[in-house]
Amino acid sequence: MPFPKELQKAGKSQKDFEEKRKAFVNAGKASEENDIYLGLYEDLIDECKDYQELEEGYSNMARFLDQLGKESFEFQQKARQARLLGFESEGISKVRIISAECCDSCSEYDGRVIELKKALLNLPMPSSLCGATMSSEFCWSKANYQRVEDSASVSKNPPPATEFIPDPPSLEKGPKGKQSDADTSGTSRGFRDYLLPLFLLICGIAFLPFSWISCGFLVLWSLPFIPPLWNRLILKIPDLSGVWIRYATGLLGIPLALLILLLPMLLDQRSPQNTRVALPDYEVLALQDQSNPGRSRLLVRIYAPDARSARERAKVAMQAAKQIQQTELREDPKQPEYQHVSVVLEALQKKSGVSLPLAKAEYAPDGLGSTGAIKNAKQNQWTWNVSSSSIAYDPSNPPTYREFEKSLEPFQKR
Ligand SMILES: [Zn+2]
Repeated sequence: MPFPKELQKAGKSQKDFEEKRKAFVNAGKASEENDIYLGLYEDLIDECKDYQELEEGYSNMARFLDQLGKESFEFQQKARQARLLGFESEGISKVRIISAECCDSCSEYDGRVIELKKALLNLPMPSSLCGATMSSEFCWSKANYQRVEDSASVSKNPPPATEFIPDPPSLEKGPKGKQSDADTSGTSRGFRDYLLPLFLLICGIAFLPFSWISCGFLVLWSLPFIPPLWNRLILKIPDLSGVWIRYATGLLGIPLALLILLLPMLLDQRSPQNTRVALPDYEVLALQDQSNPGRSRLLVRIYAPDARSARERAKVAMQAAKQIQQTELREDPKQPEYQHVSVVLEALQKKSGVSLPLAKAEYAPDGLGSTGAIKNAKQNQWTWNVSSSSIAYDPSNPPTYREFEKSLEPFQKR
């Protein structure tokens, strides 16, 4: 038989096997391979520090015996006893029988709720009437006990007591058989259960200088992991039972608190874009191609009633000039872009008629002004030539074209 996996998982090695064999030979005991494996299983049970380990130890031993084709009923009983004792140590007072997957005789009692004390006293599961088997011809019960809330009502006709019930297993045996050892390990385990909420609490306080929300979050997060509260919680949510789930859930609070701390910073980084002042919208009234053989030119008339100050009007006209220069294309495939775009921001939303300019923006991306001549005087070589006005249009007394033109002041020329 290969070295059983459960023994390997529990840290037993070939070396332990050899030592056990020597000890068995010296003591004059049977030293068949399986006897030595059984001896190692017994050692594991003796080394158990809590009832959960004890339940697992007895279950493993029972399974090993069953696979050998031997009777394992007593060890199945001890595993259930260890489970019930574990519940008792958590302050649980009632249990439910889960036996739907066992034989006909056992599944009749599936879902019955009984007092935990009665369960320990009568140990109805595994039942001596059970007909289920696994590897051997002997009984292998699939029935077990599940914790329930104190408020659950006890079932009227509980399953009958089992005839022979072994002495309940005890943690007090310990590896050295000293009661004081077990006592200290019990207390240290009790203390160990408080380490997780304590650790979370300390982490929460460490967050305080950076973010009081993260701190408060972790302090609140630590509360359900305080043992009495946690035990009550797993009654409500049985999926949370198990040491590793408890630690994993608990420690999850730390990255969450970190996220709460970093979230405002991440949002802050994006805010400059959000707070950038948006320019008023504009509407394109008319586009007119004014190209000559030397230069492709486009005249655009736009309307933007929300732009009120001279600066705003200039900016809107410039933005329009730039956007239109980039998007408006000529039919000439060799040079599709306009070399010169001139935008006039109009006072009235009219597509034709006399121009009443509030701002003018001329844009020449090549830096050669409106003419495009390289030999031109310096003052005619520009990329932008912008002027604007802050004049208000009063419909009852409309300013003349001349007054509009006169009010335009240079805004930018470079
Ligand atoms: Zn059964």
